[in-house]
Amino acid sequence: MGLFQSIDFILFILLFALFVCVIAVNRITQTHKVYLAFHFIMMLWPLGLFATKITDDPAIQHAFINMSYFGMGMLGPGWLIFVFFLTGRAERLKAGRLFVSILPAFACVTAALTNPGKLFMSPVGGSFLSREYGPLFWVLVLIQFAYFFLALMNMFQALKTVNSVHQRKQLALALIGMFVLTGFGLLDVIVNVLLAQWLPVIPGFLALGILLSDLCFVIAIYRFGMFDILSMAQRDIFEHMTTGIIVVDDNDKILEVNKGTSPFVRAFKGETFEMEKFLAPLQAQGEAYEFLYRYMNHPYEKMQMEFSLQESAGRHVSIQISPVLDDRKSFLGRIITFHDVTELRKLVVEMNRKNEALHERNLELITIQEELFRVNQKLEQMAITDGLTGCFNRRYLMQQLEHEVLLNMRYQIPFSIFLFDIDFFKQINDKYGHLVGDEVIRSTADVVRTKLRRTDILARYGGEEFTVYLPHTNREQAELLAERIMLAVGDNRVEAGNELVSVTISMGVLAESSADLRFDDPKEYLRDVFSKADSALYKAKNGGRNRVVLTN
Ligand code: GH3
Ligand code: MG
Ligand code: MG
Repeated sequence: MGLFQSIDFILFILLFALFVCVIAVNRITQTHKVYLAFHFIMMLWPLGLFATKITDDPAIQHAFINMSYFGMGMLGPGWLIFVFFLTGRAERLKAGRLFVSILPAFACVTAALTNPGKLFMSPVGGSFLSREYGPLFWVLVLIQFAYFFLALMNMFQALKTVNSVHQRKQLALALIGMFVLTGFGLLDVIVNVLLAQWLPVIPGFLALGILLSDLCFVIAIYRFGMFDILSMAQRDIFEHMTTGIIVVDDNDKILEVNKGTSPFVRAFKGETFEMEKFLAPLQAQGEAYEFLYRYMNHPYEKMQMEFSLQESAGRHVSIQISPVLDDRKSFLGRIITFHDVTELRKLVVEMNRKNEALHERNLELITIQEELFRVNQKLEQMAITDGLTGCFNRRYLMQQLEHEVLLNMRYQIPFSIFLFDIDFFKQINDKYGHLVGDEVIRSTADVVRTKLRRTDILARYGGEEFTVYLPHTNREQAELLAERIMLAVGDNRVEAGNELVSVTISMGVLAESSADLRFDDPKEYLRDVFSKADSALYKAKNGGRNRVVLTN
């Protein structure tokens, strides 16, 4: 048979190749693909048998009968693989396993097609219409049954583990299909091969079995939507999502629109989506002009805009446009999505409001903190100073001294202490009143302070009694300074109405030289120091006042 005569067949092969390509490339599930391949194999058996009968040419008959045996030989592995997909265990079929599972069938089919030494079959009377089968045929049949057996085992195993009623029904139907196919196959072998000598050939057993089993499949597919689950799920999501979606082609014709679009715009499949018309009521919002301009002139751009719906006041909507491009980046159309962002807006506004409130509260807190800091500082100051004179108080002085005398002892630093008291102060109070008395106390402290160094500590010791701590001051320096202070106080004048009041002070001075300094407890030591200074002051008072007495 020349190439020319075979042209139709070649075309059929080409068309079939094309069909396979489309199936392989397009986005259908693996189960779809396996099913289609399986279905095709199932079709080969009856087609081949039929074609064998319509020609007398033994060569063509042989070719067609071979096609049938090829189909039959691949039925077993086809079933097995399809069962793996059906039971959701396709991932167990790695390339190696797949190869091994097809190999026996493939070897058998190859043997059948090459028919070495007519071991597979031989034509009877020069025609392939009736055939005698050799041992290889029985090997092929046995292997087929082995495949069916394996597939059955798999199905039973899957049935045990499957929970969903749907899947159970599906598997049960497939199982019925398998039994039907195996039964009819068996019948065919028994009637048409084993008993061929005694019975007339009854065609179509296996083909009928194939048809019936396939019917079981088709019912399973239709009733339970086995292959459609994914697309149905996608459809379901598309329809029920709250985001409005419109898909338009390059002429703005609406190809797809979901229910979620209805609150935002009225759009119907097949109509043209007119962006200009849609934006018209929004044009007051200047952004819409710009958006429309870009929509018209830049189809490749992704764009987004927010607007508020006129009809349902207060609703904020975000519209997004994304181009749909093919592999070569040519423009096919666009996806327009609408998203209600009102809640988001509200949240943002609410957040901003809260943020502002927090900011204000923060400022208040900072002010309060500053105020507290000032008050604290004042309190600290008040805690260590005397209100009337501004000198340190006795408590502060004693605290400082406890620390100072330890340092002085350690580093052998000389220091001196003054303790002085205003003479006859009661008389001032009696004569001029307490206010003048207070003024005299304050003024005396001021005068004394002017004579001191910054490192000296002047403290109010009691009513009109003061003490001065003088670090790094030896006896001579202390005496000199004490005299000077006494004179300065004596020279000081305080106004009392028309009169000028002056007072004198008596002072006890204690000078501690560095070499003498030895003590364990600073508190005890200080008690001793002040008692000595007090004695000296007492002596000064007794000695006639307005004088300085140094301790021994
Ligand atoms: P002397 O020379 O012996 O010290 O005689 P004096 O009168 O000063 O006697 P003394 O030191 O014992 O008297 C202290 C008086 O000072 C008693 C009290 O009424 C008065 N005084 C104490 N503190 C204050 C004060 O803060 N303001 C006023 N105005 N008077 C005070
Ligand atoms: Mg006094
Ligand atoms: Mg006194």
